[in-house]
Amino acid sequence: MLRGGALRVTRPRLAVLAAVHAHPHADTASIFGAVRRELPVVSHQAVYDVLAALTAAGLVRRIEPAGSVARYEARVGDNHHHVVCRSCGAIADVDCAVGESPCLTASDDRGFSIDEAEVTYWGVCPECVAAADRQPYEMTGEGRA
Ligand SMILES: [Zn+2]
Ligand SMILES: [Zn+2]
Repeated sequence: MLRGGALRVTRPRLAVLAAVHAHPHADTASIFGAVRRELPVVSHQAVYDVLAALTAAGLVRRIEPAGSVARYEARVGDNHHHVVCRSCGAIADVDCAVGESPCLTASDDRGFSIDEAEVTYWGVCPECVAAADRQPYEMTGEGRA
């Protein structure tokens, strides 16, 4: 994959790519933790730089739902969308609704050549729905706007 992306194969790059594959939608801190278990000497900055290089090369996709830190995934190029839990922040993949970008046709393109619609579905995940059913009075306040 790295060679296909015209990147030199280095141990930090391999370790970061493996971590992103193993932990879809992980944030930088979790990826750093996973990489550190493989390569104890790697620095935070090195992981950050590798993530930027892999993202620029299109091997990794960076997403940043509102209210979340940046997250990374290795599932690229299929224009899939995300569903995010308002309560706990859990993220899951949702296949592109029509199979190609832009999935959503603009009602007025304002003269722009549009190639992508960034779709994020918001709701409550099954675990949080189940927890709310068990404890109906504790699911008020934060995150349920
Ligand atoms: Zn949830
Ligand atoms: Zn995804």
